[in-house]
Amino acid sequence: MRHGNLFVISGPSGAGKGTLVARLLREVPDAWVSVSVTTRAPRDGEVEGVHYHFASDAEFQRLVEGDGLLEWATYAGNRYGTPRAEVESRMARGMQVVLEIDVQGAFQVREKMPQAHLVFVEPPSLAVLEERLRGRGTEGEDVIASRMAAARVELARKMEYDVRLVNDNLDEAVAELVRFVNEQAEGLRG
Ligand code: 5GP
Repeated sequence: MRHGNLFVISGPSGAGKGTLVARLLREVPDAWVSVSVTTRAPRDGEVEGVHYHFASDAEFQRLVEGDGLLEWATYAGNRYGTPRAEVESRMARGMQVVLEIDVQGAFQVREKMPQAHLVFVEPPSLAVLEERLRGRGTEGEDVIASRMAAARVELARKMEYDVRLVNDNLDEAVAELVRFVNEQAEGLRG
């Protein structure tokens, strides 16, 4: 018998969280990932309601004031938040709910829901991280610099997470994450 859990996946932008989470969703049938709200502009190829709900500053502010967000944070100049209602209802239905959010958000979630499992995805090195950010080819130098600065702040908090995954071999990192999620779902590990 599986029961509902909340998994928070953090790590610097470019560490490969998105790819890991996409693979987790394919391999764990009762896993579901929350779609965040952001004031950031869509990147090429990003779809409203799939990658994010894209909102104006005023719309975001209304959500904050109406207590519609489980957590929210400002990251590299934009605001990001997790809509509360669907997270709560999916957990109540016994699903493995995944949030892909930054470290500030992760610790807000831990405050509100101490049973949440915090997973940190590390890039193999800062140099590899910078290469991946550049390789994306969608962001200017100022954005890359601001994301590298944010990455250093995030890496400084990795020891506060319950689990750390180094994303140098994607298949191994996926296998570790899938194993951890399934163990929690089955209640095998504290
Ligand atoms: P990006 O702009 O690269 O999509 O995301 C930037 C950072 O914001 C990433 O670390 C991402 O995980 C984080 N993020 C995305 N959605 C949320 C959210 O709802 N809340 C918080 N706190 N961070 C988020």
